[in-house]
Amino acid sequence: SILAVTMICGCVYALQREFTAHHSMKRELQAAVRNGELQLFFQPQVDRKGVIVGAEALLRWKHPQRGYIAPDAFIGIAEECGLMPLIGGWVLKDACNTLSKWREDPHLSTLTLAVNVSAIQFVSEDFERFVLDTLDLYRADPNKLKLELTESVTLVGIATVAAKMNTLREAGITFALDDFGTGYSSLNHLGRLPIQQLKIDRSFVQGVTENPQGAKLIKSIVKMGLDLGVTVLAEGVETAEQQAFLLNCGCQQFQGYYFGRPVSIDAFERDSIARISE
Ligand code: C2E
Ligand code: CA
Ligand code: CA
Ligand code: CA
Repeated sequence: SILAVTMICGCVYALQREFTAHHSMKRELQAAVRNGELQLFFQPQVDRKGVIVGAEALLRWKHPQRGYIAPDAFIGIAEECGLMPLIGGWVLKDACNTLSKWREDPHLSTLTLAVNVSAIQFVSEDFERFVLDTLDLYRADPNKLKLELTESVTLVGIATVAAKMNTLREAGITFALDDFGTGYSSLNHLGRLPIQQLKIDRSFVQGVTENPQGAKLIKSIVKMGLDLGVTVLAEGVETAEQQAFLLNCGCQQFQGYYFGRPVSIDAFERDSIARISE
């Protein structure tokens, strides 16, 4: 019938449009890396006294027409198009370059830099080699590089992941388990992986001052991290009330708009030096 034909044509058009959109996105992203349109922003991570102990590097695409584009809008597509080696590689190089610069500055040399690594990127065969070579190339201190992984990385098999992590850990690199609490079978995996930090997902942090259940939940997550002997960092802290509650739970590090938004490298270095020399 005409209706069916119209529907099928509609579907084909929609698919074609999507295909074309992805295809042009891929070309645009490739050009973005070439043209230096990618940037890392830096968000402070602070200790219990509010002293900056490091930063998380967060990717931004400074699009010539559309302005800053957040990573959630293009990383998924980059993964589907096979562009993660290119983009993730750029992120690691830029991060190592920054670490090597910080190494020379007495105000910044103690800071760690956390880099997000997608599961696809982590499981690629030459990932460890690439990270170690890049650290070498830029003469960056491996002890200051922290890699943030999510639980999804364990889907490829815990033994493979543990082996890769151990290789990097032996070189001094540390690992944080990102978005903790949002994945699954986390407890089972935790003990088998060389993880030094748990990052409690923002969704739990938001719940602490909203309801008694949320407060109980976060208490037990923090306690579990402390029992396991890893550093517990709370993500997405936005208010003094949340910080007070988390301090009370024993949380050791904090990150969120309450302490500082992600900003450009220049702004981050300026703020950190000002705060450290206060
Ligand atoms: P994430 O690793 O969980 O990063 C934290 C996100 O929460 C960041 O969003 C950050 O800007 C935001 N955030 C920080 N503090 C607060 C707060 O107090 N309140 C609220 N509402 N949000 C806060 P962003 O920068 O848009 O990044 C989104 C996600 O994109 C990241 O989530 C990470 O999964 C991914 N991503 C970012 N950079 C990279 C990268 O270089 N490589 C890879 N593979 N993924 C990246
Ligand atoms: Ca992260
Ligand atoms: Ca996170
Ligand atoms: Ca996330």
